[in-house]
Amino acid sequence: MIGIFGGTFDPVHFGHLRPALEVHQTLGLEELRLIPLNQAVHRAQPVASGEARLRMLEAAVADQPGFFVDRRELDRAGPSRTLDTLLSLRAEFGQQRPLCLLIGGDAFETFADWHQPERILKLAHLVVMRRPEASEPSDPRLHAMLARQRTAEVERLRQTPAGAIWYQHVTQLAISATAIRAALALGESPRYLLPEPVFAMIRATGMYASERSGGDFDAA
Ligand code: ATP
Repeated sequence: MIGIFGGTFDPVHFGHLRPALEVHQTLGLEELRLIPLNQAVHRAQPVASGEARLRMLEAAVADQPGFFVDRRELDRAGPSRTLDTLLSLRAEFGQQRPLCLLIGGDAFETFADWHQPERILKLAHLVVMRRPEASEPSDPRLHAMLARQRTAEVERLRQTPAGAIWYQHVTQLAISATAIRAALALGESPRYLLPEPVFAMIRATGMYASERSGGDFDAA
């Protein structure tokens, strides 16, 4: 099984990496692909360039076996739609290999409004990363999807290429890239919220620093 985890990763932080590792371990994924988006569809565009976000991701997962950074969305012009990414992965891996699309519990709340959600579920399983005590989504369209497609059997994920919804309980860390960028703009250190090599790259390039902050964290 291959896991797919897309996002802005502007920058990548432990709130992304720890839940992804828990999914990787629980489901026994062969590989987990982190896919930075090129052009956002429903949110503000990233601050750092695609290449910078890619390099930070590569630094973050360099010593984690089974984690890979996939640049296909950066190489595709225009908005980064999950459907197009899954079609491209299917072209590479064929129709039979199970693909697991990882999404956060918050993102799942709006899944019914994504571009062609039913088609997405025909191309991949959905792995919803949520807190154990999280409440059920309120959207009735999701209830219908869950009633048909939710499974508690890992074997169903392994034995079918797509179409199941799996709830994964994860350690959720209240870390956001927005808060990290805000801290950096104020000249505050984001250390311990993200991998040290990522912080080192941010320091070296002055990424996300405002003119006022100057990015001199070592002096803090
Ligand atoms: P921003 O603050 O810029 O919106 P972000 O930190 O939310 O960014 P993204 O790169 O947009 O990160 O998120 C990619 C994916 O990671 C999304 O599916 C999102 O739900 C999930 N995610 C982000 N932060 C966390 C977190 N702290 N815990 C669990 N999942 C997260």
